[in-house]
Amino acid sequence: MSTTMTAHQLILKQRAELLAVLCGGGSAEPLDCVLDLLLACEVLVWEDYLSIRVAEKPLCSNVRQLLDMVYDKGEDACSLLLAAMSQVLPEEQKAGLCFGKECAVVGKDRPDTATLTLLADRPVLVRKLRDNIDGALNALLTTGCFTIKDCDAVQLPVYTPSQQVRKLLDQVRFKGETAAKALLQYLEQTETTRPNPEDKENHLSANCLLYQKKLRSSVAAQSHSLSTYGGTGRFSLDDIYTDGLLEVTDGSGETLTLGLEDVVGPLGTLNEDADTVLVSGEAGSGKSTLLQRLHLLWAREALLTNTFLLFPFSCRKLNAEHRELSLKELLFLHCCWPDRGQDEVFQFILDHPNLALFTFDGLDEFKQGFTDEERHCCPTKQVPIPVLLFNLLQGTLMKGVMKVATSRPQAVGPSLKRYLRKEVLLKGFSPGGIDCFVKKHHSDPAMARRVIESLQANTVLLSLCHIPVFCWIVTKCHQELLGGQDVIPQTITDVYLLVLQHFFQRKSPQSQGVLGKAWLEEHLDTVLKLGQLALEGLETSCYVFSGYELQRNGLKEQDVSLGFLIYCNDLSVTDCKRYEFLHITLQCFFAALYVVLNRNSDRSAVSRLFQSQYRQLSSLSQRCLGHCIDSSVEGVESHVTETPNLQITAQFVSGLLSQRHHNLLLECCPIAVRERKVKQVVKSLSKGMQRHFKSIPRPVEGEKKSMHAMPSFVWLIKCIYEMQDNSIAQETMAKLDVEHLKLTYCNIGPVECTALAYVLKYLRNPVGLQLDNNSVGDVGVEQLLPCLHICHSLYLRNNNISDEGIRKLLEKGMKCESFQKIALFNNNLTDACTQHFALLLKSKQNFLSLRLGNNNITSQGAEQLAEGLSYNQSLEFLGLWGNKIGDSGAEALAAALKNSTTLIWLSLVDNGVGSAGACALAKLISQSKTLEQLWLNKNCISREGVECLIEALKMNSSVKEVWLRGNNLSPEEEEELSKQESRLTF
Ligand code: ADP
Repeated sequence: MSTTMTAHQLILKQRAELLAVLCGGGSAEPLDCVLDLLLACEVLVWEDYLSIRVAEKPLCSNVRQLLDMVYDKGEDACSLLLAAMSQVLPEEQKAGLCFGKECAVVGKDRPDTATLTLLADRPVLVRKLRDNIDGALNALLTTGCFTIKDCDAVQLPVYTPSQQVRKLLDQVRFKGETAAKALLQYLEQTETTRPNPEDKENHLSANCLLYQKKLRSSVAAQSHSLSTYGGTGRFSLDDIYTDGLLEVTDGSGETLTLGLEDVVGPLGTLNEDADTVLVSGEAGSGKSTLLQRLHLLWAREALLTNTFLLFPFSCRKLNAEHRELSLKELLFLHCCWPDRGQDEVFQFILDHPNLALFTFDGLDEFKQGFTDEERHCCPTKQVPIPVLLFNLLQGTLMKGVMKVATSRPQAVGPSLKRYLRKEVLLKGFSPGGIDCFVKKHHSDPAMARRVIESLQANTVLLSLCHIPVFCWIVTKCHQELLGGQDVIPQTITDVYLLVLQHFFQRKSPQSQGVLGKAWLEEHLDTVLKLGQLALEGLETSCYVFSGYELQRNGLKEQDVSLGFLIYCNDLSVTDCKRYEFLHITLQCFFAALYVVLNRNSDRSAVSRLFQSQYRQLSSLSQRCLGHCIDSSVEGVESHVTETPNLQITAQFVSGLLSQRHHNLLLECCPIAVRERKVKQVVKSLSKGMQRHFKSIPRPVEGEKKSMHAMPSFVWLIKCIYEMQDNSIAQETMAKLDVEHLKLTYCNIGPVECTALAYVLKYLRNPVGLQLDNNSVGDVGVEQLLPCLHICHSLYLRNNNISDEGIRKLLEKGMKCESFQKIALFNNNLTDACTQHFALLLKSKQNFLSLRLGNNNITSQGAEQLAEGLSYNQSLEFLGLWGNKIGDSGAEALAAALKNSTTLIWLSLVDNGVGSAGACALAKLISQSKTLEQLWLNKNCISREGVECLIEALKMNSSVKEVWLRGNNLSPEEEEELSKQESRLTF
């Protein structure tokens, strides 16, 4: 065939041959490659391509269509088609064909859009992406450009890898410029990170290492900044992260303080066989942030260095996963997609469970409550997400992989507790932590100082700041705070109104952003729309919202831009933009605003909100609160996930209906409606309290009438506090008739102390207030002062209290006639507090019991105490177990107590007391007419000391027991000495 023929002629003449080579093998690949090239050099436009490559038609008709079309496009197009075929076809197929003049098929100038770039690079991309489709798909998924359906359509098994790439590229083109950009960005990244594939020797670990690297970088990107600071771009997690108080109770019941690194470590392990660690804390105590910090430090190889792969999950996001997934899919789809060697990476995880760590944030937000009914252990079988999650937590699936889950304490029932390795309590910021946080937040030290000073001047606010999310708001709203509000913030509702105002102010068109008095009314429409979304979400355990849901609630771009809603930022698969409230407590606040301000709500919405605690809510119900509560099901404490959130919402409702906010609500809500709602709240609170009071058992003969508070008792108290209405508090407490109120292990921190004191101060008769094993702290102690006059006994064992707290407590306690007993076992007391006790003992001649065990009191402290004791004629019980008073301390105490006519019980167990101390105590025995028990176990008393005690006992008839276990005596000596005096116990 003549080389002088035009391309036009060559195509016409060789039509049958060209057709044969392009579809002879039955494969579409040669045609597709040609099409790629023709698209790249713009012989074909996209519409041409779509009309040629019709899947439903036979291959040869596709080829004919191509030949016809190019033929019609003219000579240049024809020569480029020939050149393209020449480039694509193997030499043996080209034999006997003429392709005309040499001509290279190259793209034109660099295109200026990503979509065109993908087209120009299409031939190269098909080759490049063939081995990397998963990675590209994952990138498109995580950026929200692709849906799962899109991925599935690309990865149909009938397609060859090249065809899959083309499908992918076609779909990207269809999705538009953003998707094209995302793909290009991904390609750019992989260019720089991809290892040398020829490196066969390291093949296995190379894939795993590559995966680790990818996982680390996505985890780092995800955890780099805090969502509450999202948008402002001002802070990274590093800038603002402040350590919270972490505690764990070990096997012997002792509380240990942990560092972040100990969360996964062995400290406090209760169940060696389990591998799930639970971090529990109230809403806003910093659980998610703590996990985020762990993630970030792992990603940087600064912590958890033995963990090769860390997979972070968010339970609120898992709620949205309705497919059945295998473990493999869960890991790869929800965390990070391996670009290469998927199976190999997964096998590695299966083979090395000890090198992996899974974290599950917000177990309390998972729609379904934990059950261990369905066992599942196959990592490749697809099962519903709850089955997967619960079996992972139990360890049925992937035994040996360490898991860290976070939750609010209420949501963890006994069935899950069985599977816990340990439970770490996150108790928010310490007082030092608050200062540190404020300083980190304000780069201007003068401003930080002003904020700290204003907090110190308002201890109620300071106590709120122990909860990090409140601390964040208070710090964020410092201008409003320092600028002198009408209402000085006292309640969490005040604080959240502050943040509401702050956000509106930020967007206010008036430049100086001063909001008018009627600011809430001005923004009522937005508030109601957000409120409805929030409430409906809470009722259905929905904390993540799609754009569609926002739209359905009438929320527009400008509503979203206010900042209450933020984009979800995570690694998992999302098919569209998703939003969540800045924090769950803010969602509750908006829900409360809706309950209070919505004029159309039915009349009993408020009462039902309060009663939801006592009724079984259907967690699966997709309907509104108004319908979903069946009022016939009474009296069942519900454990569904909604309860804690509805409780917080009810608390905000109480606060919003407080008289304090009357003016703000004036124009937003007709007075009559407001009044009706107030009445409903008051009635609900009163009924709730009655329920508690009724549960108080009749006192056993000889025992005090005692009430052990249920968890919702504290909640009711907090609601009453939010209302800031003395008469309500007074009326409620008038009906409580107990002598002892037990609130141990109730997560009582400073915030709860404020509320407790506010309400308990109205008790008619003095009570013993037992707050052991909470986190009252010095600030909480200060908050309790208003009710100290009504406490005859205060039990504060294990509560992180230091000398400063005691100073304030005793200053007030001294003036409280009823106050007679205090127990402070296991706090942070030193010799600096004993002078205050001395003063108390001197001035209060009706004080009965002082227990200071397990603190850091030395001989000096004991000497100071002794000084007070020598003037006291009322103390009956003195406990100093587990301090370090030594011989001189014992001598001082003994001398001071010699003249006591009231002391019945004295414990100096484990105090380093030797024989000298014992001999001094012997003098006390010989003189005392009242002492019945002396505890001297775990000291270093030897024979000589015991002999002194025996001598003294000869002259004493009141002492019943002297305990001497664990002193410096041989078994023989013990036997011999106990024969001499039967009241000694060794
Ligand atoms: P939780 O998960 O317990 O509800 P979060 O971790 O979401 O609480 O904390 C709420 C907000 O409080 C965070 O967005 C952040 O602003 C602040 N916060 C919490 N913990 C810390 C911390 N350790 N350091 C600094 N800020 C924190």
